Amino acid sequence: MNTLIAVDNSGSYRVTLTVTTSLCEEAMQIHGCTTTAAAALGRTLTCAGMMGIGLKSMSDRLTVQIKGSGPAKQVLACADGLGRVKGYIANPAAELPPRADGHLNVGGIVGEGSLTVIKDLGLREPYVGTIPLVNGEIARDFTQYFAVSEQQPGSVALGVRFTKDRAHVAWAGGFIVQVLPDAKDEALDALEETITLMDDITLLIQDAEGDLYKLMDLIFGKLPEEFRPRVLEERTISWMCDCSRERMEKALVSIGKKDLAEIIEEDHGAELTCQFCLKKYRFNEQELRTLLEEASHGQN
Ligand SMILES: [Zn+2]
Repeated sequence: MNTLIAVDNSGSYRVTLTVTTSLCEEAMQIHGCTTTAAAALGRTLTCAGMMGIGLKSMSDRLTVQIKGSGPAKQVLACADGLGRVKGYIANPAAELPPRADGHLNVGGIVGEGSLTVIKDLGLREPYVGTIPLVNGEIARDFTQYFAVSEQQPGSVALGVRFTKDRAHVAWAGGFIVQVLPDAKDEALDALEETITLMDDITLLIQDAEGDLYKLMDLIFGKLPEEFRPRVLEERTISWMCDCSRERMEKALVSIGKKDLAEIIEEDHGAELTCQFCLKKYRFNEQELRTLLEEASHGQN
């Protein structure tokens, strides 16, 4: 369990609060990210995971795609209703000097661009929402996405903090606060003040030593009793890649008879790498010939 879902006592807002240190560390190590790239990827994975467990059905899925003009080029994250998350950053070596305030320059490596969310809710057409990036720092971009694309006002905080040697994630996490339809103005005023005056989310996670209930109290504990969150659910957000040999076979078949025959003639084999977990799948000539037969049947 690393995530809490809570609603305040007056029914004015809902909060999803998570500590994703191990998820972000796993992503950083798999992709060999610089700290700034790991921060961009970790923030995106954290928010995607929280959105995933907010989906109505466990089998629903979503993809978050951040495309920008900066050296990171693209950050992509996929999540499902069970809180399983995977993702990658197109350029894990992207790095810039810190900003003037000492923070990592995530907005700099992302640049100007767009944030797109694709939700597969088991319907014929997926839901797609896109907004222009606000500042590429990811949290404010998601806040804007929820307000504009989902007409869901609220607030998003996301953060990844690193060990002194910058080789590992020390703390990571965040929250999504959503204003509920019958929200009391007084509650929203108090909430806004609390969030505005709040310390950096990773410092609070560090102070709480990763304990979610302590963290919830550090962030919202000073609100009047009636506007404090009450925990409804404990959930888990974790890294998981669902790639398989079968999926890679399907991908090979889908490139078509002509291209597959060319690979067999020229390379006598193929090696495919999963872009999410970087696992390699090798196919020898005989295996490719079997797939070519399948592709041929498919086209007849
Ligand atoms: Zn994989």
